[in-house]
Amino acid sequence: MSFTLAIVGRPNVGKSTLFNRLVGKRLALVDDQPGVTRDLREGAARLGDLKFTIIDTAGLEMATDESLQGRMRMLTERAVEMADACLFLIDARAGVLPADEIFADILRKKSARVILGANKAEGAAGAAGMMEAFSLGLGEPLGLSAEHGEGMADLAAVLRPMIADHEELAEDYTPEVEVDVPEDDDEEHEYVPATPSKPLQIAVVGRPNAGKSTLINQILGEDRLLTGPEAGITRDAISVQTTWSGTPMRIFDTAGMRKKAKVQDKLEKLSVSDGLRAVKFAEVVVVLLDVDIPFEQQDLRIADLAEREGRAVVLAVNKWDLEGEKQDKLRALKEQFTRLLPQLRGAPLITVSAKTGRGLERLHDAIVEAHRVWNTRVSTSMLNRWLVGMLEQHPPPAPQGKRIKLRYITQVKARPPGFVVMASHPDLLPASYSRYLVNGLREDFDMPGTPIRLFMRSQN
Ligand code: GDP
Ligand code: GDP
Repeated sequence: MSFTLAIVGRPNVGKSTLFNRLVGKRLALVDDQPGVTRDLREGAARLGDLKFTIIDTAGLEMATDESLQGRMRMLTERAVEMADACLFLIDARAGVLPADEIFADILRKKSARVILGANKAEGAAGAAGMMEAFSLGLGEPLGLSAEHGEGMADLAAVLRPMIADHEELAEDYTPEVEVDVPEDDDEEHEYVPATPSKPLQIAVVGRPNAGKSTLINQILGEDRLLTGPEAGITRDAISVQTTWSGTPMRIFDTAGMRKKAKVQDKLEKLSVSDGLRAVKFAEVVVVLLDVDIPFEQQDLRIADLAEREGRAVVLAVNKWDLEGEKQDKLRALKEQFTRLLPQLRGAPLITVSAKTGRGLERLHDAIVEAHRVWNTRVSTSMLNRWLVGMLEQHPPPAPQGKRIKLRYITQVKARPPGFVVMASHPDLLPASYSRYLVNGLREDFDMPGTPIRLFMRSQN
């Protein structure tokens, strides 16, 4: 995964201008995901010989009222969480405004790695603002001009070591000698539970009429959603925070929740793109199916997207109260699930009735469990002991007479779990062997239903 830089700051400081300069036409996100691109734009950036990803929080320039400011803050927080470092822009001509302090606060609270940029610093007009920028307490500002391309070499100089560090982290955990596996190492899997300050973030997605609003209102315990002050504003991801059975959660909405404010014929389209956006913000995605029409194209698409985005997925089949032949239906659903969504193997499938509230407790537990699995961290020593067993049980093939040696495995990330295997000739290793390892990790470290990423790196 490439180094990711978030450009943050209040409207009008020049974020988009800089984004466009660095990205040019290399917008990473594709056209068929309109919802994903609208608020957090992502692009492949190039600065001299440096390559990285940037995300930009523009798109809320029209923000004037209170609630939109709140949303801007939320988007910024989200961007900060997604990024390895943040480029915080202020306008050197305007100096430090109260709104800038708000962003500085967010960055401090999130302990983000910050590069402070004083933009529009071309000519003499920016000098005072540059000095003022020190008062933010975020270090020495870089004088930039996004419009005129000034200061780009300085920006590159600051970024270069960060990017190098990042790449080293992903590449360089190669032990010099044979892996030393301690005998009695009883490190457990580590799990960081949601705390009140960090609610578990979920999105409920699904076709129109699947029952998303009913479900969320049932969770919230009141009919709050459709009447909230934010109803009818469709451009951003909107969320509500609640405590569900003792678990703090933030629930991201989709168009279905606001449909009362919508023109009916626009509904279908909106719910897909908003669903895609909600997926971006969530840790756990609840795909809500309608028992009468489960696993429709739309459902499959969004479930697949959630998996590809690395989110934990829980399938919930709604309107279970309407089902007469529950046993038969459940069997059929499980069969369809296995056949149509093999990439989500092991993900829970829960039957619920949003209307009556039945099954909601199980849904809650499945979400919390999916989140736990998604956060799994396995110690390197446990992994390498495990790898030895896997290799003995089923040695890698020797294509073209070359023996492929798998030397070492380590977990490089969680949320979702990602692992790197050092191998000789990783390019020759068949995909089936990677699948064998992924399935083994899933089984042996109890990580059902979560996306698992396995990367192969070359080491002779
Ligand atoms: P954003 O809201 O932060 O994305 O800001 P924009 O990129 O839309 O820029 C806001 C305004 O500032 C636009 O009119 C830009 O042309 C202007 N602007 C951006 N960068 C510079 C710069 O380096 N110098 C000057 N003078 N104006 C700039
Ligand atoms: P959304 O478009 O996904 O937000 O769907 P709604 O929550 O608006 O629900 C669509 C329709 O399905 C409404 O008429 C609900 O009353 C109904 N509905 C939702 N959940 C259930 C359920 O569990 N059982 C039954 N019988 N009807 C439900």
